Amino acid sequence: MPVPISQMWTVATYVLKQRLQGRKRYPLVLMLEPLFRCNLACAGCGKIQYPPHILKRQLTPAQCFKAVEECGAPMVSIPGGEPLLHPNIKEIVEGLVARRKYIYLCTNALLLKEKLEAGWFKPSKYLTFSVHMDGQEEHHDFAVCREGTYEKAVDGIRLAVKMGFRVTTNTTLFDGADPNSVRAFFDEMMALGVEGMMLSPGYAYEKAPDQKNFLKRQKTNELFEMILSNRKDGKQKWRFNQSPLFLEFLMGTRQYECTPWGMPTYNIFGWQKPCYLLQEGYVDTFSELIDETEWERYGHSSGNPKCANCMVHSGYEASAVNHTFASVGGMFATVKAMLFNTYANPAAKRRLDEEKAKPHGPVAHLVQLGIAADVVEKDGKRTVRLVESGSAA
Ligand code: SF4
Repeated sequence: MPVPISQMWTVATYVLKQRLQGRKRYPLVLMLEPLFRCNLACAGCGKIQYPPHILKRQLTPAQCFKAVEECGAPMVSIPGGEPLLHPNIKEIVEGLVARRKYIYLCTNALLLKEKLEAGWFKPSKYLTFSVHMDGQEEHHDFAVCREGTYEKAVDGIRLAVKMGFRVTTNTTLFDGADPNSVRAFFDEMMALGVEGMMLSPGYAYEKAPDQKNFLKRQKTNELFEMILSNRKDGKQKWRFNQSPLFLEFLMGTRQYECTPWGMPTYNIFGWQKPCYLLQEGYVDTFSELIDETEWERYGHSSGNPKCANCMVHSGYEASAVNHTFASVGGMFATVKAMLFNTYANPAAKRRLDEEKAKPHGPVAHLVQLGIAADVVEKDGKRTVRLVESGSAA
């Protein structure tokens, strides 16, 4: 069982209570961003592009607790930036555990081993380290733009698992991802003993330097169908720490509309409208966020071009969870997806095999991004030119 029964029970009773109270919009997970600083500078990240005076700022523990109380969501995800760089992260985590919130501390794990050895955290059913892993070693190090990060993160995961902490991984997949390698990566994470894995396609942040490698909807479905169909059974079974209906949505067998209020974001600027991906302003209180945001302007069917290709988990996983608890059909579909999850699909298997012959990995990515190359011009002189996608060979 990837998610403990106590957590499932807490979420189920919370959702049912909201529905019985007739609340139309309620949060499931608070995305609490206590800082934007990071010890990595990934090409796909929209946070670390802020100027230095913003990167120096951080939420105080009191501000974090106030946001958590205001929001009322049963789960709190702490992304960033890198939360382990926050000088008060120990106090923040302890305060949230005391409030019985299920915390997902999202970390690149570069500092995890060091902090665990220093005794910063105690194992608890309320605390999960959600380690950012973008794939097998070569893919991960390339995606986060630094060698050695995979190995360091694995060291942190090993120690955390050994010490009895709950550990999951979170993986963002971009255009050009190698589905066979992703499947091998899942096996590696299972062998490390993590509780479960979380997946999401990437979103094209306006601030991110790499704007070319984000997935469009159809490509997203094709990629996830190849990755998630024909799963292994028995001991080698993959465990996912997220809604199985959301995974079916990624595979293209279900359609959902976005639920951006399901995972609201609070950071140093306030409550972010409408979701952590879009920069459409901030308000001071959670009530203002819920009451004053023009929610109909967002989501796939709204026609908003910024939402057109988005399928990220922060927008659509809450939709899947709501579906589970909204009807007998949703509950039945969830139980079925949990019990019968090998998803035999010969066509997806064929496409997966065809992918083996295609170029993937860092070299293919470098060609896509455009790289500076040493080129011999017609007059025989050597110059450095930017080589565009597909023309580097
Ligand atoms: S579709 Fe994506 S970008 Fe648009 S509101 Fe939902 S989560 Fe945000």
